[in-house]
Amino acid sequence: MDFTIPDEYRQLTESARRFRETELMPLEQQFLRDGAFSPELRTELEHKARRHGLWALDVPEEYGGQGVGTLGACLVAEELFKHPAMLQLGGSPEPILYSCTDEQKKRYLYPTIEEGLRSCYAFTEPDTGSDFAAVRTTAVRRGEGWVLNGTKTFISDVERAGFCIVFATTDPALGAKGITCFLVDIGTAGFEVSRPIPTMGDAWEPYELTFRDCEVGDEQRLGPVNGAWKLAADQLTHGRAKIAAFQLGIAQRCLDLAVDWAKERRTWGKPLASRQAIQWMIADSAVELDAARLLVYRAAWMADAGEDIHHAAYAAKLYATEMAQRVTDRSLQIFGGLGYSRELPIQSFYRQVRVWRIGHGTSEIHRWMIARKLLGLGSGD
Ligand SMILES: Cc1cc2nc3c(=O)[nH]c(=O)nc-3n(C[C@H](O)[C@H](O)[C@H](O)COP(=O)(O)OP(=O)(O)OC[C@H]3O[C@@H](n4cnc5c(N)ncnc54)[C@H](O)[C@@H]3O)c2cc1C
Repeated sequence: MDFTIPDEYRQLTESARRFRETELMPLEQQFLRDGAFSPELRTELEHKARRHGLWALDVPEEYGGQGVGTLGACLVAEELFKHPAMLQLGGSPEPILYSCTDEQKKRYLYPTIEEGLRSCYAFTEPDTGSDFAAVRTTAVRRGEGWVLNGTKTFISDVERAGFCIVFATTDPALGAKGITCFLVDIGTAGFEVSRPIPTMGDAWEPYELTFRDCEVGDEQRLGPVNGAWKLAADQLTHGRAKIAAFQLGIAQRCLDLAVDWAKERRTWGKPLASRQAIQWMIADSAVELDAARLLVYRAAWMADAGEDIHHAAYAAKLYATEMAQRVTDRSLQIFGGLGYSRELPIQSFYRQVRVWRIGHGTSEIHRWMIARKLLGLGSGD
């Protein structure tokens, strides 16, 4: 395996770095003070990013995207996540939308790529998150269409979404094999955004959603009846590689800040950098970040080579998210009280990285899947 980063990706990363420095960094103190960017400002920044060529990066060229692939998208995400607003670029649809019918593509996929239409992704429910088989939201056939009933919780990006990708059971006896996916427009009768859920994170506020006798036509069904399991698994795998890449930027920024501070701050007449306790925190962070980077780049490279990355993505996300937790913590420690203050981004990163050991599959479920493959165990073991 060749770990060289192709030149065109270096240029792309350079555009992302320039965008971060010119457009995002001047807003860092505002973000740290307010704890969030408004949805309008996020949209405006995405449009500015578009002018820097940062739009629909990993979307295949046949759909009008830039087709830079997973590695290119991961490198750009790594660069942008050095800012605590953790801006995700526009024009990149949830990969599940590539399974749309031609009609659905016109209504949902192309407007997402070309016009920045946004979706939210509703799988988790009050009674289930990790266990796909336990989805209780039902979709029942009525005439030519379907009627949805149930509650979804912790759903991100609702505030800017035009439609929701919803998972519902169509055959409860089949468990995970009885789930079907639907595209439901925001504003559809019977579909209500019930409440926001405040969290310890800055960048996200997820929502609870309620479906009460919500009627949708069969043309709103995405993929086969009882066929959502495979679509969701592929979607989650793609997302895991990207989430793992986010951690690299976060950890790199925190480590860079900590290194500079260790050289500057003096105690008992010497810089912190001269103390072995501090040196070891810096050395451990650098080595772990490097290891995570190799896992992430390998998973992305495998994806671009058309290989199955389920397990490479589990490993990359598991290691990178736990690495970022340790690196943000050590960096905060090196700054002492200043690290805990809202004047620096480290406390924001420290709180925000926590979610990724939970979302898109928890660390425990990732370990379970990795071990299950090694031990040759079946599902449920
Ligand atoms: C900020 C935020 C945003 C989110 N955004 C979305 C979104 O956009 N869309 C969406 O659908 N969901 C979203 N989620 C939900 C997230 O995906 C779930 O929280 C996650 O899948 C875990 O599910 P759960 O919370 O129900 O935990 P549970 O599944 O109840 O698990 C609880 C704990 O038990 C452990 N555990 C469970 N089963 C096992 C097992 N078999 N072996 C060992 N340990 C186990 C888990 O690892 C975890 O530590 C979001 C969550 C947050 C916090």
